[in-house]
Order: sequence, then structure tokens, then C-alpha cells
Amino acid sequence: MPHRITLIPGDGIGPELAEATRRVLDATGIAFEWEVQDAGEATIASEGSPLPERVLESIRRNKVALKGPITTPVGSGFRSVNVGLRQALNLYANLRPARSMAGVPSRYDDVDVVIVRENTEDLYAGIEHMVGKDAAESIKIITRAASERIARFAFEYAVANGRRKVTAVHKANIMKLSDGLFLESCRTIAADYEGRIEFEDRIVDNMCMQLVQKPELYDVLVLPNLYGDIVSDLAAGLVGGLGVAPGANIGTDAAVFEPVHGSAPKYAGLDKANPTAMILSGALMLRHLGYPEAATRVEDAVRAVVAEGRATTYDLGGTTGTAGFADAVVARLAAAPATR
Ligand code: NAD
Repeated sequence: MPHRITLIPGDGIGPELAEATRRVLDATGIAFEWEVQDAGEATIASEGSPLPERVLESIRRNKVALKGPITTPVGSGFRSVNVGLRQALNLYANLRPARSMAGVPSRYDDVDVVIVRENTEDLYAGIEHMVGKDAAESIKIITRAASERIARFAFEYAVANGRRKVTAVHKANIMKLSDGLFLESCRTIAADYEGRIEFEDRIVDNMCMQLVQKPELYDVLVLPNLYGDIVSDLAAGLVGGLGVAPGANIGTDAAVFEPVHGSAPKYAGLDKANPTAMILSGALMLRHLGYPEAATRVEDAVRAVVAEGRATTYDLGGTTGTAGFADAVVARLAAAPATR
């Protein structure tokens, strides 16, 4: 039985990246049936919404989606499709691995951290109001249930992926109740993994300095929503920026895999954009589907093509286009066939 996957090409450079990624994933030899679902700018005109209900139904049915970036129209009244998807499908965990890659200019060459960000609460719950005319208040929501759920996700990820340590990141010295509860929840879950996965915690400001000074000391980080947002971009910066950063939003009933970058409209249709981040998001999807060996083959093929530097896109100093990069990755996969 082929795996049926919802494929959302998205806006701007999205369709070209989605096509490149689909070709690479098909080249693994795993059978996929791609259910293409348009969303974004085009469907605002044709269906009155950037996130039609049929897209959500498709993901609920297939449980797994691969998604290109979607433009968030400014000032149109439509909320971000990305936030809408997370909320509608309760995708509570945002996963962003950041790993150095030979051939990608950056200040470090030995970073390998995985950011696990809580996706549903904290200051992102969007509860804020004016207090009179000259003061505003935002409410930070942290619950034991959501904190324990994300901590368990981080530990389970560590176990499943052979990682050694989970670091909880917080500001519990100042926000003793909210961040205190997050830290306490992480400690509760850590006890279940004692002897298998190491556990430690860091205050978020110190964490940022440590990541810049000694990134090699860190492995899996688990953070509440806002710190997770900020620290995941810091981690992407350590390994060469958003163009090569994959991501996943995972819930109990569905998972959506997508690159961290946006739709880069100025490069749309030019066969210029780098598909690395979306292909690596596809590799995360393979792992989620239970194909760790195929995921590693795809990652190794991408890394080899980037390191070699002969078929890279403009952002990495090359002159190859989106499709040409995918051709090079497919050729690498063909040269290193599956071992099972
Ligand atoms: P962006 O990531 O689209 O682009 C910023 C710049 O980064 C581009 O101009 C380009 O120079 C470079 N870049 C990004 N991706 C690249 C790639 N794959 N290859 C080569 N270069 C690449 O960020 P933005 O301009 O702030 O956002 C554009 C639109 O995308 C906005 O509407 C925003 O809301 C949306 N967005 C969507 C998502 C998502 O769908 N998950 C995420 C971020 C932004």
C-alpha cells in the first residue's frame, strides 16, 4: 500500500520546491500517493479562504502532510495559514533540527542540536488587552498538561533518534509560577527516562550565550513557545540560516512537515530557490513514517551534493537551479541504493 500524503505546494517558490522534494522522495523507492491540495493566495480568489476546509480534511484523513511556504497576506484580514493549521490540527510540537553542513557558510562546523518548541500556549495564546489607553497586557498561559506533553515528546524523540541529553530552557528564576511550572513538568517527565536520557536545565539568556560559545555541548532542547521561537532561529543561524532549515509540526493525530523559510515571492517561478530545507523536511517525514534508513540516505545525498558544491543554488554560491539541484540529489540516491 502506498503512503497517501497531503502535498500542499504553497505560494511563491513553494510549488518548485514541492516538485523537487516529491522527486527526491519518490527516488527513495518508497511508494507514495501524493494528494495535492492547493492553499494560500490562489484559493483566496477561487474559494474565499487561504485554508479551505478540504485541506484540513485531507490532512486529517492522511495524517501526514508535506507543505511548501504560504504567503501571509498583509492587511487582508486573513490570519496566517501556518498558525491556522497548527491550531486546527492541534500540532502541539514544533521540531527544528539544526545541524552544520559542509558547503554552507557559517561560523561553526560542529553544531547538531534539535529544538523542540511547545506550539500551543505561552504568550502565543494571543490573550492580550489594553488597560486604559496607555498600557497593554499580554497573558502568558502555561499548563502542566501541555508542558508534560511537550517534555515527553522531547524525551521520546531523544530515545527514538539515539540522542543523549534533553535540556529544558526557561526563566523560572523570574517567572516562578509560569516558567516554574514548565520546569517542574520537565523534571517530572525526565524522571521516567532516568538512566537512559540525561536531563539538565538552563535559564534562557544563559542558554543563548552558551549556544553561541559552546554549541557542541547541546543536544535536544525543549522550550515553551516564545523562547522556542527565538532560540530556534538562533540555532538556524548557527548552521547557515533559514534556507537550509527543515521543520515539522507534530500532533497526536496529524503531522505537517515544512521548511522554516517563507515563500520568497521575488524568486517565484525562476527556478532559483534552494530546495534543501524542504527536502530535509521530507527526510523528517520519512523518519516519522518509520523509514529512518531512507531518511538518512536522503540527508546524506543532500549533504554530499552541497559539500561537493558543483550543483548548488545561488544562495550557496552556485549557479544551478531548483530542479538541477534535485536532479543531483536524485543521482546521488541512485548511486547509493537502499540496503533494505
Ligand atoms: P522568506 O523566507 O520568504 O524570504 C526571505 C529571503 O530569504 C528571500 O528573499 C530569499 O533571499 C531568502 N530565501 C528564503 N528561502 C529561500 C530558499 N529556499 N532559497 C533561496 N533563498 C531563500 O521570508 P519573508 O520575505 O519574510 O516572507 C515571505 C512570505 O512568506 C510572507 O508572506 C510570510 O508571511 C511567508 N512565510 C511563510 C512561512 C510558512 O509558510 N511556514 C514561513 C515564513 C514566512
